[in-house]
Amino acid sequence: MTYQVTEWSNSPSLKSYTLANFRNIPEIENLSEETKFEMEVVGNVLPFKANNYVVEQLIDWNNIPHDPMYVLTFPQKGMLRPEHYSKMENALKNNLEKDEITKIANEIRLQLNPHPAGQMELNVPTLKDGTKLYGMQHKYKETCLFFPSQSQTCHAYCSFCFRWPQFVGMDEMKFAMQEAELLVKYLQEHQEITDVLFTGGDPMIMRSQIFSKYIDTLLESNIPNLKNIRIGTKSLSYWPYKFLTDSDSQSMLDVFQKVTDNGLHLAFMAHFNHLNELSTQSVIDAIKAVKKTGAEIRTQSPLLAHINDDAEMWAKMWTKQVLHGCIPYYMFVVRDTGAQHYFGVPLVKAYSIFKKAYSSVSGLARTVRGPSMSATPGKVHVIGTAELNDQKVIVLRFLQGRNPNWVQKPFFAKYDENALWLDDLKPALTNKFFFEDEMNNFKKIHPEEDSPES
Ligand SMILES: *Cc1c(COP(=O)(O)O)cnc(C)c1O
Ligand code: SF4
Repeated sequence: MTYQVTEWSNSPSLKSYTLANFRNIPEIENLSEETKFEMEVVGNVLPFKANNYVVEQLIDWNNIPHDPMYVLTFPQKGMLRPEHYSKMENALKNNLEKDEITKIANEIRLQLNPHPAGQMELNVPTLKDGTKLYGMQHKYKETCLFFPSQSQTCHAYCSFCFRWPQFVGMDEMKFAMQEAELLVKYLQEHQEITDVLFTGGDPMIMRSQIFSKYIDTLLESNIPNLKNIRIGTKSLSYWPYKFLTDSDSQSMLDVFQKVTDNGLHLAFMAHFNHLNELSTQSVIDAIKAVKKTGAEIRTQSPLLAHINDDAEMWAKMWTKQVLHGCIPYYMFVVRDTGAQHYFGVPLVKAYSIFKKAYSSVSGLARTVRGPSMSATPGKVHVIGTAELNDQKVIVLRFLQGRNPNWVQKPFFAKYDENALWLDDLKPALTNKFFFEDEMNNFKKIHPEEDSPES
């Protein structure tokens, strides 16, 4: 396929497409009314946002409905289970009032495991004075996640995203400075933390003036244990102009430079789901601009049916990332939330795709680890399959554990070609996984904090 190369010197401005205006996109006007209505049905339950860069430069409109970038950003009928789909379909066909529709949407949403892996409750940190820090998560010893209130959205939404509940009921804006001070306090109380990971939504949705307030507060506080500032972002894929031509692009790059000039590592955790996201001159130029500040770009993505369940594509994507100086980091298993039934790839198949891709790239791209599940007990890596005492097993290990002692210890599950997630696996050779008792104790100590689904 060919892509038009943009002349980005004439700074495009961001145009967002949502449920309210997607019918005005010329390429969408050409689709059947049936397809547009399907999008409305799904889009009333799951979040939907695209933009002019994605629509004009990443989606190949000659390849509908299979185009990966189209499936990634536009709602597809299969993303809702049939019973949920018909519920919303009927609501729309009967022209119910807006708040009736919202009520039905929320009922469906609650059945989609909105807070997987104890995301909400198990990982909320507390200051010594008892203040609960809801804008933060601290699950693994070295790394603390920070959710600035101004980054609870993205330049476009990925249809598989486990953060979808944040996008369907947005939090109120809070004061940037105040939150950064709480973050500093927490980092000072927890000297084991070396990494702060800015996340969201997408932190690169923030204007540089807001983002720099957070960074300045961190840098000025001179926290000796803080070594790495990470930014989890999909901006290179969805809006590379953030680092090229937006009015704050240079000042954003200056913020990155300031971090590295201060002797900290700036780790740009870039989210790329498909090779096609690396196909424009703009993204290549944006990568160059970010790297010039001394930041390193590491890349990660879940493995997704209908989008990227193709070993050759992964191999090409990692190779291209390395060519442009990015470091392949994680291949994830898609989480047990939202449209997992649509995007999910069974663990055994995920492993075989990973193995095929990994074994066909240069060692420089083999920095990548996966497939990895971000499950309640930790990040669980599917190492492979094996036969032990004539029993077929899946071999696993923790890359990160709620208890750091769990890390690296191999363990075994019964071979199961259909299992999509850790909860689907049964222990092999033993009657429990080695971490189960400790995990259950942990949940008992925090009963009110247990997530309803686990
Ligand atoms: C993945 C993850 C991290 C970062 O883990 P690394 O292996 O250091 O990249 C931190 N916190 C949570 C909750 C995570 O899921
Ligand atoms: S950019 Fe990241 S946070 Fe935003 S929708 Fe995509 S996966 Fe989710």
